[in-house]
Amino acid sequence: MIILSGGTGTPKLLAGMRGVIPEEEITVIVNTAEDTWVSGNLVCPDIDTVLYLFADTIDAAKWWGIRDDTFTTHESLKRAGHPEIMRIGDRDRATHILRSDLIRKGSALTEAIRELARSSGIRASILPMTDHPVATHITTPACEMHFQEYWITHGGDPDVLGVNIHGIDDAVPSDAVLSALDSDDTVLIGPSNPITSIGPILRLPGMREILREKTVVAVSPIIGDAPVSGPAGRLMRACGYEVSSAGVLECYRDLLGDLPDVFIIDRDDIEIGIDGGVEIVRADTMMTSVDKSEALSRLVVDSFRNLSVQVHT
Ligand code: GDP
Repeated sequence: MIILSGGTGTPKLLAGMRGVIPEEEITVIVNTAEDTWVSGNLVCPDIDTVLYLFADTIDAAKWWGIRDDTFTTHESLKRAGHPEIMRIGDRDRATHILRSDLIRKGSALTEAIRELARSSGIRASILPMTDHPVATHITTPACEMHFQEYWITHGGDPDVLGVNIHGIDDAVPSDAVLSALDSDDTVLIGPSNPITSIGPILRLPGMREILREKTVVAVSPIIGDAPVSGPAGRLMRACGYEVSSAGVLECYRDLLGDLPDVFIIDRDDIEIGIDGGVEIVRADTMMTSVDKSEALSRLVVDSFRNLSVQVHT
C-alpha cells in the first residue's frame, strides 16, 4: 500500500497500519514542502516524524522529535546569540546533520533518507515526494513568510490571505516515487493537512494523471467543523474550502477529479452532502491510541478489499 503523509495525522495512522500489514509492504510518500534549513542543516519535519515512528523513537506526545531527547546544543546556541526557529533536540539534530552531510556530498534527498532508514533498521519505504526544492509560503496581511515562520515563530496567529507552494510546478515526483506507484495500485491519502501536507504531493506535475489509474481511499483529517490539531482549518478557509469533511473532499476533487473512491469520515461527523461517485464510510477516526489506529487501519484495508483490490496482510 502507498500512503501519502504529512507529519502528524497520517503518522498516527501508520502507527496502527504497521500492525495490520507487513512493514515491507508499506510505502510512505512524504510531503517535503515544509522542509527548511536551520543552523546549516536540512530539517524535514514530516519525513523525520515518519522515520522516528518506524524506528520506534518518536515522541508521540508531540508527534515531532525523538522521545526523551535533550536540548543542550539548542540552548547553547541560544546563549551564544543564535536563537533557532525550532527547538531542535540533540539526537534529532544528529539526523539533520547526517542527512545534510549526505546531501552536501552529492546525494539526493531520497538517497539520504534511504540511508537513514536503513541505518535505523526500517523495513517500510519512506520516500520524499520529490528531490526538488519546494517550499510552502503563507501570505499574511503583513507579508509572505515560510510556513515554519507562520506556524512556529508566529504561532499560526496571523490571518491567512493565501498559500503558495513555491517550486511545485518545476518539481517532479522522484524516480523512487514513480517506480513505487508503478508497482502498487492501492493509494491511501492519510488524515493529513489537505492544504500543506497532501496538497503539495497531489500538486506535483504528473501526479493527478498517475493517481487516476489507482484505487484511492482517503481518511478525513477534519472532524465536524475543526481539525484535530494544527492550522488546517484556517488554511482551508483561506483557500476557499469549508472546514469540514465535505470541504476536504472538494479540495481533493479539485486536485484529482473523481477520486477518492472511498472517503472515510468520523462517525460523529456532520452529514456531508455528496453528489455521488464516492463511497462514504463512517468510523471512529480519532486516533488516541495504537489500538484505535489499528482498528482504523483494518477498516482502510477492508475498504480496498471491498473495491476488489488486493492488499498483502
Ligand atoms: P503536519 O505535517 O504536522 O501538519 O501534520 P499532518 O498534515 O500529517 O497532520 C495534520 C492533520 O492531521 C490535521 O489536519 C489534524 O486534524 C489531523 N489529525 C491529527 N490527529 C488526527 C486523528 O486522530 N484523527 C484524524 N481523523 N485526523 C487527525
